[in-house]
Amino acid sequence: MTSAPMDSVTVRVPAKVNLQLAVGPLRDDGYHDLVNVFHAVSIYDHVTAVAADSFSVRVVGEEAGLVPDGPDNLAVRAARALAARADRPVAAWLTIRKSIPVAGGMAGGSADAAGALVACNDLWKLGLPREELLEIAADIGSDVPFALFGGTAVGTGRGELLTAVPTGGRFHWVFALAEGGLSTPAVYARCDRLREARGERPAPPQESKAMMAALRDGDADALGAELVNDLQEAAVAMRPSLAATLDAGRERGALGAIVSGSGPTCAFLVAGESKADDLARALTGSAVCHAAVTAYGPVRGALAGSGGHPV
Ligand code: ATP
Repeated sequence: MTSAPMDSVTVRVPAKVNLQLAVGPLRDDGYHDLVNVFHAVSIYDHVTAVAADSFSVRVVGEEAGLVPDGPDNLAVRAARALAARADRPVAAWLTIRKSIPVAGGMAGGSADAAGALVACNDLWKLGLPREELLEIAADIGSDVPFALFGGTAVGTGRGELLTAVPTGGRFHWVFALAEGGLSTPAVYARCDRLREARGERPAPPQESKAMMAALRDGDADALGAELVNDLQEAAVAMRPSLAATLDAGRERGALGAIVSGSGPTCAFLVAGESKADDLARALTGSAVCHAAVTAYGPVRGALAGSGGHPV
C-alpha cells in the first residue's frame, strides 16, 4: 500500500485461481456448498481511494469498458458498506487500474472490492480490525474475503469461510486469456442442469488430502495431477473452444491444466519460470487463446498492504 499527499491510498490486490473447486448440491438459499481451494497469483488490480464528498469510480486498463462505473461496481459497493460503519460521513473517489481479466474466473471484481475496503479503511482512518473487514467482505461476495486474505486457503460454506493452507514453495503458472467473459451464475446453472440430466446427486464436497500434501511439499508434479474444477464441464459446454485451449497446454508439457473458476481463463501449472515463459510464448502464437500471461503463487492478499507495509 502506498500513501501519497492529498489523502490518497493505493492497494494492490491479486487475482485467484481455484486449485480444487468441488461443488456440492444446490442449497435452499440458491448457493452451493463448496470446497474451494483458492490460490492468489501475481496478476494484480490496483485500487486508489481519494477522500471526496461523494462516491465515484473510474476504471482504467484494456478491459475498463466492460466494468460498471456506477453504484454496481463491487469496489463502490464495498466502500459504501464500509462507510456505513463509520461514526461520521465519509466518501471516496476510487480509481481501479485493471489487469485481472474481467469475467474471467479470476475474481477481479472481488479483488477490487477487497482493495476498496483496505484502501478506504486506511484513508478514513477507521482502524477496523481484520475480522470486521472479512465480515463486510463476505456480505459483498463469496470470493471477496479471499482477496483480503491471499496466499492459499480452503474456503468452505459458499466459499467465504477461510482456513489458510501452508505451502512449501512457489508455483509457476500460465494463464490463457479468452476474448469475452462467462457469467458465473450462468456457469453454475449449466453445471446444475448437466448434473440433473444425468440424474446425478452430488455428494457433500470434500477437501483433497492429496492436494494439501502437494501444496505443503511444494510438489508441482503432484499438484498438477490433483487440480480439479467441478465447473469445468459446464464452462467447456458453454465455450467449446476451451477444450482445445486446455489440450494445447497439456500437449506443450503443462503439469496440470484447468479452467479457472467459472472460466473462460485457462490455468496451466508448469515446472518453473522458464517453462512458464516458453508455454506463454507458444500459446500466444497459437489460435487457442487471445493472450497468455505468466504468474506465480501464492502471493499476499490486500490485507498484507495494510498496517504500513509497502505494496
Ligand atoms: P468470479 O471468479 O469471482 O466468479 P469473475 O472473475 O468471473 O468472477 P469478475 O471479473 O469479477 O468475474 O466480473 C464479473 C462481473 O462483475 C463483470 O461482468 C462486471 O459486470 C461485474 N463487476 C462489478 N464490479 C466489477 C469490478 N470492479 N471489476 C470487474 N467486474 C466488476
